[in-house]
Amino acid sequence: MQAQDIPHGRTTAELIFTGGQVHTVNARNNIVEAVAVSGGCILGIGSTAEICALARSGTREAALRRRSRLPGFIDAHCHLTGLGMAMVSIDCKAPGRQSIEAFQPPGTWIRGGGYNQTRLRARRHPTRDDRDTVAPNHPVIFTRACGHIASVNSRALAVAGITDQTPDPSGGRYDRDGGRNLGVAYETAQTPLQMAALPTAEEFSAALMRASQAYLAAGCTSVHDAGGLVGPAFGPCQDLVEAGRLKLRSYAFATVNSLQHPVMGLLGAGPRSRFGDERLRLGAFKVITDGSSSGPTTTTREPYTSNDQDCGILYWDQEGLDDLLGRAHRQGFQCTVHAVGDRAIEQTLNAIARAQRECPRQWLRHRIEHCAICLPDLQDRVHAQGIVPVMQPAFFWEFGDGYIQNYGRHRADTMFPVNSLIAAGVPVAGSSDAQVTHNAPLFDIEQGLTQMTMAGDIWGPDERVDLTTAIRLHTIHGAFASFEEGFKGRIEVGKAGRSCPPR
Ligand SMILES: [Zn+2]
Repeated sequence: MQAQDIPHGRTTAELIFTGGQVHTVNARNNIVEAVAVSGGCILGIGSTAEICALARSGTREAALRRRSRLPGFIDAHCHLTGLGMAMVSIDCKAPGRQSIEAFQPPGTWIRGGGYNQTRLRARRHPTRDDRDTVAPNHPVIFTRACGHIASVNSRALAVAGITDQTPDPSGGRYDRDGGRNLGVAYETAQTPLQMAALPTAEEFSAALMRASQAYLAAGCTSVHDAGGLVGPAFGPCQDLVEAGRLKLRSYAFATVNSLQHPVMGLLGAGPRSRFGDERLRLGAFKVITDGSSSGPTTTTREPYTSNDQDCGILYWDQEGLDDLLGRAHRQGFQCTVHAVGDRAIEQTLNAIARAQRECPRQWLRHRIEHCAICLPDLQDRVHAQGIVPVMQPAFFWEFGDGYIQNYGRHRADTMFPVNSLIAAGVPVAGSSDAQVTHNAPLFDIEQGLTQMTMAGDIWGPDERVDLTTAIRLHTIHGAFASFEEGFKGRIEVGKAGRSCPPR
């Protein structure tokens, strides 16, 4: 340990962790015994004896007793408000909710989340009629586990101004029986319903506090909010940050799925990625271009194995995506696209290449969210174009059996090719997509190691990673994905320790 490494002229530790296995996640993945913290920064790392030398009267000591100490985890793709709201919505993943009748409780705006039609005994989405049976007078909305499909009752359709004559919007559709809207809305078709069911400012605040506490309890100190925070939830979030109540650090995306989306107003208004401070920053400009891997509504080059007429839902044509990403790129936004299927990934890579060609900006680390059906030709392009793919090994457990059914073993085994991309030198970041899956990073790390489905199938064994790599995905690579690798993501002298450094 070098004296000149000690930041802010501090030489006294406030808190020391000793006698453990401190995973530094540095370039050599060194593991040391002890670490000292002061003023919110890491003051020193080294042997227990070296670190104890920094202690004075008043220094607190946490004896690790050979246990591991890791950098704060970073969840590089989640939905904070969605997670917080899901914690007070009806949980369709819970045992006993595997029948449509169980989705019919009384109340005012009745919100539920996490249902998956493939796990219902009826093997179909609940329709407005199922919900009207017991809730004729209350608007009801249940969002599917993936967040891309909503099932509502007649009252909810009426509140949102949707009639049987309302046409399918671009990038979305409603299930219909003849001319009748059945109350199952896919992709952009659910936007007016979700807007009608929008939580209040008080509900958003409470949701953010719940989500933040859930993350901190899981050892996760930073998240990239992939949609939901920039919008009506942002004011309540800023209030909580300024009051010092929200401890979780957030990198919040401006997410759009259509040109009519209210967040589109940020394009042309001038802000760029990274505005804010380490507690709350404006993140990437995110565009959704295809559906959900498990819906399945993702956009594929070849038809689904389960339905040879279906290649998914694509939100934009190439020209439209080029134009949108080009504008965000020129404005100084980090661009990212929700692209799951190979066709959507290809379209995204084309758009980003064009934006870079027309306005070269090497410092911008553009990303692709999910990047799931990323075949070898696309992996080469991800590498060559300097893209950061943000992937979700946690999906294997919950959705893997459906992937095998819908996309076939040949595609399922190469989905989320974390190992191949890491081997090629691509800094893949790991994430939960909570509330889609469990928010705890240790759950995602376990899935990265095992890739086991709920039915016990091992999926894509060649794409499993080792523990060190899985930890890097959820720490330093997450920091890199938000340009913050100089501040956090590893245990190194000068990096963030327990709280934010004074500014
Ligand atoms: Zn997401």
